[in-house]
Amino acid sequence: MSIERKALCVAIHDVAPATWPACQRLLSALSEVADIPLTLLVVPCYHGDDRADPGYDAMLTALLARGHELALHGYRHLDSGPPPSGWRQRWLRGVYTRHEGEFSALGAAHSRLLLARGLQWFHRRGWPVDGFVPPAWLLGSGAWVALRRAPFSYTTTWTRFHLLSSRRSIWSPSLVYAARNRSGRQLSPRLAVAQAACLAPAPLVRFGLHPADAAHPALLLHAQHLLGALLEARVPMTKSAFARRSRSV
Ligand SMILES: [Zn+2]
Repeated sequence: MSIERKALCVAIHDVAPATWPACQRLLSALSEVADIPLTLLVVPCYHGDDRADPGYDAMLTALLARGHELALHGYRHLDSGPPPSGWRQRWLRGVYTRHEGEFSALGAAHSRLLLARGLQWFHRRGWPVDGFVPPAWLLGSGAWVALRRAPFSYTTTWTRFHLLSSRRSIWSPSLVYAARNRSGRQLSPRLAVAQAACLAPAPLVRFGLHPADAAHPALLLHAQHLLGALLEARVPMTKSAFARRSRSV
């Protein structure tokens, strides 16, 4: 694969009416660097909030028309599965993801129901949907069963991009910031740079921003520099475009 064909997928996580002002700050910081196609990870009923917001819907429709992608990112973005057993599950679902790993412990039937609701929500708005990204990148075995039968072309976990039709996956650990606490804000930008360097030969780099990042100007500035550096060697594309391209290889 030639160097100019290596891909960069940039995603904005947790898009919802409640987070939209922060998402708009992220969009504007990225567009100051380059007008690239982005993947917006949309949550239909974020933390239980399902109020209709025609203005927000209109803005997402406009972004879609400009070549950005809207992907389904869970339904409520809250972990309502059975209580975790064992220290690893308790840490992963309670501390690490702050109870946001909605699809980490659901059975297949419940997962299927939430995926169907999410798809209906997209279809009501006339929005195409090609990808499903589980909140906190956590997919339990029940969710995998449901996802294999759902009409998505791809999903992503923390370290891999999965092509659902062929069951192939591509190693691509996501570059993200940890904005929650001071040490995370100091260490995660350095980690992202080191990770980007390790991934230099890889066919895909994924870079994800969260609404919480928007509250920290130093993180936004870092994201702008990192994006500029990544764009020197990579072609930006939506995740849907990357899945399409990978299927044809
Ligand atoms: Zn999320």
